[in-house]
Amino acid sequence: MKEVYVAKTASRGIAVASVLKYQEPDYTPDRSCITEAQAAEEKAKFAKAKETVKNVLSALAAENEIFAAHLDMVDDFTLQEGVDGKITGELKNAQVAVHETIQEIAALFGMIDDEYMKERATDIQDVGKRLMAELKGITLPDIGSLTREAIIVAKDLYPSDTVKINPDFVKGIITEEGGVTSHVSIIAKSMNIPTLVGVGALLDSLGDDTVICMDAEKGIIVVDPDEKTLAEYQARKEDYEKERIRLLNLRNTPAVTADGKRISLCANVGNLEDIQKALEMNIDGIGLFRSEFLYMENTHFPTEEEQFDVYSKAAQLCPQELTIRTLDIGGDKELSYFEFDKEENPFLGWRAIRISLDMKDMFKQQLRAILRAGVFGHVRIMFPMMISLEELRAAKEVVEECKAELKAEGKAYDENIELGMMIETPASVLMAEEFAKEADFFSIGTNDLTQYLLAIDRGNKKLADKYDYFHPAVLKAIAHVIKAGHKEGIKVGMCGEMAGDAKAVKKLLEMELDEFSMSAGSIDYVREQILNV
Ligand code: PEP
Ligand code: MG
Repeated sequence: MKEVYVAKTASRGIAVASVLKYQEPDYTPDRSCITEAQAAEEKAKFAKAKETVKNVLSALAAENEIFAAHLDMVDDFTLQEGVDGKITGELKNAQVAVHETIQEIAALFGMIDDEYMKERATDIQDVGKRLMAELKGITLPDIGSLTREAIIVAKDLYPSDTVKINPDFVKGIITEEGGVTSHVSIIAKSMNIPTLVGVGALLDSLGDDTVICMDAEKGIIVVDPDEKTLAEYQARKEDYEKERIRLLNLRNTPAVTADGKRISLCANVGNLEDIQKALEMNIDGIGLFRSEFLYMENTHFPTEEEQFDVYSKAAQLCPQELTIRTLDIGGDKELSYFEFDKEENPFLGWRAIRISLDMKDMFKQQLRAILRAGVFGHVRIMFPMMISLEELRAAKEVVEECKAELKAEGKAYDENIELGMMIETPASVLMAEEFAKEADFFSIGTNDLTQYLLAIDRGNKKLADKYDYFHPAVLKAIAHVIKAGHKEGIKVGMCGEMAGDAKAVKKLLEMELDEFSMSAGSIDYVREQILNV
């Protein structure tokens, strides 16, 4: 019996089953050289492979948005240009040209210091595998043909593998690589399959029918469990299932504390897909729409129309509150199409509202899009990283300018849109009373606030145990902000990770926090805590 401890839980749950080792075919390209005369033939091979892959993806795209994105990737100019250049310019055959171009594009995504964007490298690799399989005449492995209960263990799983999963047979998923925002994680979560990702080397130590117990709550894998452990996990699995059903039954209960206070339970999202998922959790609205993902997924600053399209759809999907945070770029979030100056301390640098106020035309495109989307629901604007009243006033002035323009152009917009702000800098905490007189609402961003108050980089693994939002300084700051907001009659919410931590609920309710906004997966647990307090 061997125990492995893992930090990344992608989808909660407990599973016990024998292993299915999922091995990939060999996609290594044949490295033979070509002559100039053969270039046209190699280009034709690529064109044929591309056409076949496009046909397969078009069919899949009708059922799953992920494949619509893959379809765009196959058709992308960068891929075509890269492959053509390598065939004609460097006389590489189609297999090598595709392999190298895909690696280059994936490396570009991988360089962005953001977990979500890093995962997009997996998508382009998935597309690359389809193309390589076509070029090499390989039949892709099919998880869908599984007919016994199993825990799948793989180096990594790609969306094309994951969508075929049948939850009747796949009881758990473990991948050696991958992150919690990967598509395998998203799909596994939607199917309620316990999943642990990024667990490190494991495959080689497993036989084909090795039994595994996995706890995707605490992050434990037990390989070859003894009888006692096996029985223990079976019992816990049943308890977990009962608990899940109990939480599901609570889902329709409004979050009201025992003393009758109605608490708003909201979700943090990055795109329309997230909103759809979050709505299943019976939420009161979206407390944080991280608009930067729209910018990071793009190849250019999204135009007003492109943004309006997304925000108006979001407002229609979620006509309850929809809080759109204006661009929060910089720090660890970069854009592939915009060069940031190298900074000594990017988290203390040119980021978020500082960029928006400096790049006013770009800021106005976003504000106009949000104002226009406001007619479709209850949309609110939230400014990130505020440190001074001057900044808040400047941002509000740009909003007024946009309103005047829209009015003159005869375009519909929300004249009374609420303008709130994140409290995530020490300055905004100390100035909370003044800010509360001029902002319509506050949302406390404990992720940055903890980092700035404790002078601990939020991403530094070495300091992870000291990065603690229960630190008395952070708790004092939160209490102060809530009091300051209430004194001026504005609502105070929280959209940092602390809001989704069931252990923090009691404390935050004592401080009279009005709104908890978190990733969708935490909502059931926080609701239960609220109902119990
Ligand atoms: C925060 O800082 O708490 C927050 C919610 O914003 P982000 O995590 O996007 O910086
Ligand atoms: Mg923040």
